[in-house]
Amino acid sequence: MLLNIKELAAKEHAVPITGQVDLSSTLNGRKDVLTFGPLQLNLRASHVGGVVEVDGTMDLELEQSCSRCLGPAKQSLHIPFRELFTQQPDTIDGDESEDMHLVTEDKVDLLPYVVENVLVELPYVPLCKSDCPGLCPTCGHDRNEGECGCKEDNIDPRLAGLADFFKQ
Ligand SMILES: [Zn+2]
Ligand SMILES: [Zn+2]
Repeated sequence: MLLNIKELAAKEHAVPITGQVDLSSTLNGRKDVLTFGPLQLNLRASHVGGVVEVDGTMDLELEQSCSRCLGPAKQSLHIPFRELFTQQPDTIDGDESEDMHLVTEDKVDLLPYVVENVLVELPYVPLCKSDCPGLCPTCGHDRNEGECGCKEDNIDPRLAGLADFFKQ
């Protein structure tokens, strides 16, 4: 995924960067990712005032393991992307300095930046649905399939006194 800075500088308009990236080398072997499709790029690159700006979004469909019930949790990620590159160190200052990368060659490989942006957007606590009831802590039953009948001991401490009252 090489971006040629010289070629880009010669263009008057932003250049689209689209296509698919195979993330196998990044995601294979990760315990929290079950399956994944190709990463769909929807980026554009422009060269203004000695700075290359690449921005847009990336889409990724993947299946993770639900952190509550361990079932499949489908995710459709819409990942923002914005990175700045320059060959002139003196343009790096101010607010943009964190996003600005100094490149020494006429080509910059976008892949490491793409991968980094994907990894920070992977859900840390994936859920199959936002209100997944998870597994019963007592018997391990998947409560998505209905109640198991186990008694829950987690009575609100403020109500514990009331529970004692009714036992008498
Ligand atoms: Zn779940
Ligand atoms: Zn149970």
